[in-house]
Amino acid sequence: MNAQKLSKRLETVASFVPTGAVVADIGSDHAYLPCYLVHKGIAARAVAGEVVKGPYDSAVRQVRTEGLTEKITVRLADGLAAVEEADGITAITIAGMGGPLIVSILEKHPQALKNVTRLILQPNIHAKAIREWALEHGWALQDEVILQEDGKVYEVLVLQRGSMDLNEAQTLLGPKLMNTKSAVFVEKWSREVANWQRVQQAISNAEQTEENKAKFDELTHLIALVQGAIA
Ligand code: SAM
Repeated sequence: MNAQKLSKRLETVASFVPTGAVVADIGSDHAYLPCYLVHKGIAARAVAGEVVKGPYDSAVRQVRTEGLTEKITVRLADGLAAVEEADGITAITIAGMGGPLIVSILEKHPQALKNVTRLILQPNIHAKAIREWALEHGWALQDEVILQEDGKVYEVLVLQRGSMDLNEAQTLLGPKLMNTKSAVFVEKWSREVANWQRVQQAISNAEQTEENKAKFDELTHLIALVQGAIA
């Protein structure tokens, strides 16, 4: 992977960035995504935000190597603290982290979202946390993709401002992913169900405490919910 040829995962994220957007890529360790977006003429300008010095340095180097210092600003900052009002950011990408970490980044500096019309979020795990955040904060799912690369499964969630209604299954699994029911989706959730069943087996062999019974019942509920969706 490099700034010309992204991974399938980041290429999917890039495909949802509107042409002409001013993008902030948060957690931009190598700045490949913003460099690609500017090279392709998709993003007009970009900010690459990175909280750790080593990855920040490699993002700075990459932007220099690509000759894009006029169009991409790299900032060493925690989450959306990388975004300044004068940047005029209209779209934010956050990829390659867990859903709860992405949510904590969105919640920590809400003022940075003021002029943002699109969020493209790629959680490695627990996408549910992002759907819950979106429901509570006036964002609606515009699109969702599930994909597999190098044996790992990734989800990409595209949010626009608006409201939506999601039931419990849709919040967990994704309303659009449930409708499409791709082979990757069915495989991911079948594996999850098998894991939960193994946990239930272990609980059955353990001491029957209130806590264990509650966990067993919760898993029974989740298994039924997911089996109903992938059947
Ligand atoms: N976004 C790239 C991608 O998808 O390939 C890099 C993903 S890498 C696994 C996660 C990066 O996010 C790391 O470089 C990490 O230092 C950075 N990161 C984690 N928490 C962050 C935060 N609060 N603010 C900015 N960057 C953060």
